[in-house]
Amino acid sequence: MRIVATGELDGWNDGGPGAHFKVFVPAPDDETVMRTYTVRDFDPDEGRLTIDFGLHADGPMTRWARSAAVGDRFAVAGEARPGYAPGAGARWCLLFADHCALPAVSAVLESLPAGMEAIVFAEVTDAADATELTSAAEVSTAWLVESGRPCAELVAAAGNAVLPEGPGDVWIGCEAGAMRDIRRHVLGALRLPREALHSRAYWKQNVENHSDHDTGSDEE
Ligand SMILES: Cc1cc2nc3c(=O)[nH]c(=O)nc-3n(C[C@H](O)[C@H](O)[C@H](O)COP(=O)(O)OP(=O)(O)OC[C@H]3O[C@@H](n4cnc5c(N)ncnc54)[C@H](O)[C@@H]3O)c2cc1C
Repeated sequence: MRIVATGELDGWNDGGPGAHFKVFVPAPDDETVMRTYTVRDFDPDEGRLTIDFGLHADGPMTRWARSAAVGDRFAVAGEARPGYAPGAGARWCLLFADHCALPAVSAVLESLPAGMEAIVFAEVTDAADATELTSAAEVSTAWLVESGRPCAELVAAAGNAVLPEGPGDVWIGCEAGAMRDIRRHVLGALRLPREALHSRAYWKQNVENHSDHDTGSDEE
């Protein structure tokens, strides 16, 4: 569900490609619900903020997005937390994303320069959820359809992945347990240097409002 918002966004700091920020929406009983979302696009001249809400979670924010209508009001935090840019000298990046990290991957790909190689493994719950990805970089995308445990296809793809030659980065955004499985594999078997790894849990199975600080680095 794509929601394009206008409002008091003068001077808002969008944090760059793939940045995240807090969204606040009203909930029953005068409560406010806060969850983390990605800046899919921000147009400072028009004051327009675009957010892509996945509809896979079973929580209050997803319920709000399902029924949102033109004219509804919501709030966002004053600035977004920085997104991702490839490290200096990186010639390639390998991205693992599930449905709710696709807005970040889309924004990151749009920012990559020509001459860079991007390899994307994207898991969606329905093949029809595969979206068009645009980039000046040379992109190859494998669309994986969820089967069994969420993100299991991503973990399996990581198990068969080969890192391209030369310096490059791995970016992971998906369910917390799967993110840790992929991290372990790229740092261990694939021997990726720690500083080239960028990982974050986008949600955690059976947990409401999982922390957006969960990078999986607690395992090191
Ligand atoms: C950095 C960051 C950026 C994010 N950007 C986006 C974005 O742009 N678009 C987007 O759709 N989501 C994004 N998310 C994920 C989003 O914050 C969560 O999915 C959020 O938990 C949804 O809130 P909720 O109130 O619907 O569910 P919650 O109340 O948080 O959770 C209710 C139940 O749903 C389950 N659940 C939560 N998320 C998912 C999911 N994605 N798939 C399946 N089950 C789930 C939980 O395990 C729990 O059992 C991002 C998360 C992070 C950390």
